[in-house]
Amino acid sequence: MSVIWFASQNENKIKEIKEMIPEMEVKSLNDLEKELDIPEDEPTFELNALFKAKTLSNLVEGIVIADDSGLSVVHLDNFPGIYSARWAKPEKDWNVINDMLLDKLMDNNLFNDEQRKAFFTSSIAVIDKERNIEEVFTGIVEGVIMYSQMGDNGFAYDKIFKPDGYDKTFAEMTKEEKNEISHRRISISKLREFLKENNYF
Ligand code: IMP
Repeated sequence: MSVIWFASQNENKIKEIKEMIPEMEVKSLNDLEKELDIPEDEPTFELNALFKAKTLSNLVEGIVIADDSGLSVVHLDNFPGIYSARWAKPEKDWNVINDMLLDKLMDNNLFNDEQRKAFFTSSIAVIDKERNIEEVFTGIVEGVIMYSQMGDNGFAYDKIFKPDGYDKTFAEMTKEEKNEISHRRISISKLREFLKENNYF
């Protein structure tokens, strides 16, 4: 089985990649001998993912992937976007962070669904130095920000995001329901197609 390196320490993401690409052996930052903390200082999801993939590809052989993701509110100039994981620091409680974001929408007079349009983005970069491959695949799910937190499943912003075409938030869906339509599922599916077309499995 050929190896694919994933520049992540997030067990949930590693598991999802393993499930979606069972034909390859997925190795992660947890398999490196020394700890590697890669910054996310680039201006877009795509460039953050590429930077992470490049950093790891300088340390290992073969194909490397890396991801970056986040939630963007259209009428807040796509905030929090690439800052999704860190804009509310040092606050760590997602119930508090979600309320902070809901307040921000109210403070900016974003009162109806049209004004509260938002989208989740997941970008996955692929680098294979030996084959001169450098690609980024992006998945987007559009929806709206709710008026209060709804649901108990999922993580982070799931309680305040309702995808278009559904009458519940990501946090009111089962993990399987969410995973079938998520931004990450879309980007990983594109990655999978690419790997197949390029005979990685
Ligand atoms: P990353 O791990 O650097 O990609 O950071 C992603 C951040 O975006 C997470 O900490 C969450 O804040 C947010 N995020 C990304 N995907 C999701 C999702 O599916 N649900 C809720 N929040 C998400």
